[in-house]
Amino acid sequence: MIPYGRQLINEDDIEAVVEVLRSDYLTTGPKINEFENAISEYVGTKYSIALSSGTAALHSAMHAIGIGPGDEVILPPITFAATANCVVYQGGTPVFADVEPETLLIDPIKVEKKITPKTKVIIGVDYAGQPCDWNALRGIAKKHNLILVADGCHALGAEYRGVKVGSLADLTAFSFHPVKHITTGEGGMVTTDNQDWAEKIRMFRNHGITTDHREREETGSWLYEMTDLGFNYRITDFQSALGISQLKKLPDFLKKRRKIADQYNTFFSSRESVKPLSVKTDRLHAYHLYVVKLHKDKENSRQDVFNQLRKNGIGVNVHYIPVHMHPFYRKNFGYKAGDYPVAEKAFESILSLPMFPSLKKNEIEHVIENIRQIIF
Ligand SMILES: *Cc1c(COP(=O)(O)O)cnc(C)c1O
Repeated sequence: MIPYGRQLINEDDIEAVVEVLRSDYLTTGPKINEFENAISEYVGTKYSIALSSGTAALHSAMHAIGIGPGDEVILPPITFAATANCVVYQGGTPVFADVEPETLLIDPIKVEKKITPKTKVIIGVDYAGQPCDWNALRGIAKKHNLILVADGCHALGAEYRGVKVGSLADLTAFSFHPVKHITTGEGGMVTTDNQDWAEKIRMFRNHGITTDHREREETGSWLYEMTDLGFNYRITDFQSALGISQLKKLPDFLKKRRKIADQYNTFFSSRESVKPLSVKTDRLHAYHLYVVKLHKDKENSRQDVFNQLRKNGIGVNVHYIPVHMHPFYRKNFGYKAGDYPVAEKAFESILSLPMFPSLKKNEIEHVIENIRQIIF
C-alpha cells in the first residue's frame, strides 16, 4: 500500500539519535534548546518552545493567552479535531467560521460575522500547507483587539507574501508527527516573538514549575515552586536530535513535495471532473497534503473512488470530517449538519492523494494511471 504520507529517515538521522542515547541527557538536556534555536532561526521568531506534540503546542498556546470559561475562539471546521480540542481543554468555546470553497482556508468575511464581545482569539489553519489570508486576518484582529494563532501543523516551510509560517501569527503551533514535514516521532513546537507567552509555555510544559531539573542542578539548588497548573508536555533530547537532523533536510523535502504537486497538477490541468484545490499567487505552498475535489455529478461517488483506489494499493484519505460534525461537538456545543455548508459540501468530494518526499516516480505514475482508469 502506498500511504498518503510517511516519514523519510536516513542513517544520519539514526546516528544523531544514537549519539544522544549514549550521552548524559535523555530529556531536559541541551538538544532541546538547540532544536528550538534552529526552528526560531528557520521561521524568523525570537522564541520557540519544543513540546511533546502539536496538540500540546496548541494547548500551551491557549494557556499562554489565558483562554478560559466564557472565552470564544474562532477557527475553521476543516481541520484536525485537535485545533478545536485545545480550546475545550481550557474551558473555552470553539466557534467555527466557514471556509472558502476553492482553498478550504478560513474565510475572513465569515470570521468577522462570528465575532462577539466574548471573542478572544482567531486560529487560522494553514490547511494542506497553504497559508491563510493572514493580512486579512491581521486586519480583523487589530480592529477587534483579538490575538492571532496559527495552526501551522501542515505548513512548516510555507510562505505568505514572502514571510514564513511561524512568524505570521502571534503564536504558531507545529507538529512533528511522522506524516508532517519533519518528524521527531511525536513532537511539536510553538513559535512567537512574545517573551511573556514563551515563559508561560516553558513552565506549562513542566507542570507549571518555575525551574527545570537541569537548571536546579546547575545552580546547586533543590528549591522549586509550582506557580501554575501545568502538564508534562516535555519533548526528549533524542527526539530533538532527530528534529535538528530532519530540519537540515527540510528544503530538500519541500522541493520534492512541490515537484510531486507539479506532476499531479499537470495531469489534472486538462481534466474537468477532478480539480486540485486552488493555490493563491501570493502563497508558497508546503504541500503537507495534496487534496483534490471530485465532481459531484460524475457517476462515481467519492466512496467508490476511495474504495477502488484503496483496493489497488493506493492509500488515499479524507482530510477532514468537519470538526463540528463530530458527535462530541454536536452533543456539547449543539452544532448540527447544515451549520457550515461550504465545509460540509467540500467534505463530500475531497480526497487526499499520496504526498511525501520519498514517493517514487513510478509510484506517482501508478497513482495517476489508476485515477485515469477509475474516473476518466
Ligand atoms: C497533526 C495536526 C495536529 C496535531 O499534531 P500532533 O502532533 O499529532 O498532536 C493539529 N492540527 C493539525 C491541523 C494537524 O494536522
